[in-house]
Amino acid sequence: MSPNENENHSVPITHPRYSSLQYRHRIIEGMKNLVVAEAGLIAHGRGECFDYIIGEKTPKTAKDAIKAAVASLLTAKKPVISVNGNVAALVPNELVTLSNLLDIPLEINLFYSKEGRVKAITDVLINAGATDIRGTNETLMTELKGLESNRRKVDFIAKADVIMVPLEDGDRTEALKKLNKQVIAIDLNPLSRTALWADITIVDNVIRAIPIMIETAQKFKKLNTNELLEIIKNFDNKVNIQKTLDLIIDYITTQKEEAFKILK
Ligand code: ATP
Repeated sequence: MSPNENENHSVPITHPRYSSLQYRHRIIEGMKNLVVAEAGLIAHGRGECFDYIIGEKTPKTAKDAIKAAVASLLTAKKPVISVNGNVAALVPNELVTLSNLLDIPLEINLFYSKEGRVKAITDVLINAGATDIRGTNETLMTELKGLESNRRKVDFIAKADVIMVPLEDGDRTEALKKLNKQVIAIDLNPLSRTALWADITIVDNVIRAIPIMIETAQKFKKLNTNELLEIIKNFDNKVNIQKTLDLIIDYITTQKEEAFKILK
């Protein structure tokens, strides 16, 4: 569902930041329903700031990273998508569509634990049509080595070879890498520890990236393994992050020129 449908929170549709305000509202509602942690609001704000400096659209570099990410998820033996409160509040339907399309489990993994949060997120995912949700049964959980936070408690992630982490904290990405896992991150900040530690970094808003992943998955499901492996081989994350940073510098330079036209 696009935020323009069935959501009216007294923001006029003509407002230039209508879409952004609707997603903010989803985060606020998510916090009221326990899905989002209080700190999730701040993380969202940090994301918005980085979205601003990539021009609030999916860069070509993110599209390339998405291709490599989908190819990687399709060729993995045990892939999994990690879910936190923000992503569950922002794009539950899209997340579940991707999980079902690729036949990949969703694992709830939270930095901030609170009584009722896992249940609240589980309900959101079930309502969106999820069929394979992990991270809900404490008796199946093990602990990731080298990690102190609540995110150390994992279920399928412990066995997985490829882990997609939309909206992540750097500590866990680093811990996963030290366990030789392949990490796919979606992070608007190309300089975050998550972005720098991941194998494939999609610098884009999850709101835009996940629908593009769905379209890409529909196309890539028709490719054979060799074709998918070729796509992964041709992707260089370091070069891609460098290009993203160049793109941000160019965008800011253009915006500076535009600002000077307005400034008196
Ligand atoms: P790291 O630990 O990786 O260095 P951090 O400490 O900045 O990152 P958090 O404070 O947990 O991490 O912030 C969450 C991250 O998620 C930020 O990098 C932010 O840019 C990113 N983010 C927030 N909202 C979105 C979104 N909608 N789409 C993609 N990325 C987002």
